[in-house]
Amino acid sequence: MIKNIYKNKKPVFSLEIFPPKKETHLESIFDTVGKLADLEPDFISVTYGAAGGIKGSITSDIAGKIKKDYGIEAVAHMTCINSSKKEVRHMIEEMKAKNIENVLVLRGDIVPEIEGERDFQHANELAIEIQKVGGMEMLGACYPEGHYESESLDADIQNLKYKIGAGVEALITQLFFDNRSFYRYVEKVRGAGIEVPISAGVMPITKSSQIKRTVELSSASMPEEFTKMIAKYENDPEGLFEAGVDYAVKQIRDLIKHGADGIHLYTMNTPEVADAVYDGISDLLQ
Ligand code: FAD
Repeated sequence: MIKNIYKNKKPVFSLEIFPPKKETHLESIFDTVGKLADLEPDFISVTYGAAGGIKGSITSDIAGKIKKDYGIEAVAHMTCINSSKKEVRHMIEEMKAKNIENVLVLRGDIVPEIEGERDFQHANELAIEIQKVGGMEMLGACYPEGHYESESLDADIQNLKYKIGAGVEALITQLFFDNRSFYRYVEKVRGAGIEVPISAGVMPITKSSQIKRTVELSSASMPEEFTKMIAKYENDPEGLFEAGVDYAVKQIRDLIKHGADGIHLYTMNTPEVADAVYDGISDLLQ
């Protein structure tokens, strides 16, 4: 389970995938998992749809199969803000039934269009609910540049203590492009007395469509080297692929050199990108 993985290895190397939009496309995700398995990740995490329900079942189906059929440790993400207590309990039971032992507990983003009871306000409340059931280990999310609702980074770090207090044993960061923000953050988190391992979330930007969606919508700050790369290759798909992989490789090598507990690669379900990044860092992962 997750705690042991972090205890026995540094850096832990993990991959994140998301379920296909349609349940009928499940085969494609297992094709992706099959290719990602070659990279021998310490775990693969599977994201959770904002609305829970059927989307949550897809997450647990995929995570369950990753563990059972591929022999890779799996982490199922789970959100709570758009669900009732009954729905959350049902999902926890469903995950247990599929032998999922690790959950990334999340609040989720507030989606006003989703109606229904809102019995949970924050990720720590979901962690408490999971602890009541028992037998599962938990990870949580954290934000090197602060969560967008937080009034300050320090306030956000103080709030992080709630999920640690509720049993979260490892953290995975939001993506960032400037390693300096990660190093500053880890120092502050440790200064606040939080000792759990922190995996650095890295997303290689290799397609121009990601520039708008991920970069502009994320609040991640962009160092000059990054904005120059984007400007240079925005209209050159092959050039952007190579430059984006190269940027992520450099970022990860530097993170490992600085002693990061883990590297969590946001794969965007693209094994070719994960493969290319892995080739550039594998010597540091043994
Ligand atoms: P919380 O920890 O609840 O924090 C939300 C805000 O409330 C923060 O500003 C925090 O400072 C504050 N806060 C926290 N606890 C308390 C408290 N007890 N009292 C008062 N204030 C508090 N979203 C999805 O829908 N599906 C996914 O699969 C998914 N995976 C993710 C994976 C990672 C690694 C990350 C970083 C994010 C992911 N998200 C996902 C996005 C996430 O759901 C959003 O960022 C969401 O807005 C916050 O979730 P959280 O768990 O960090 O919330």
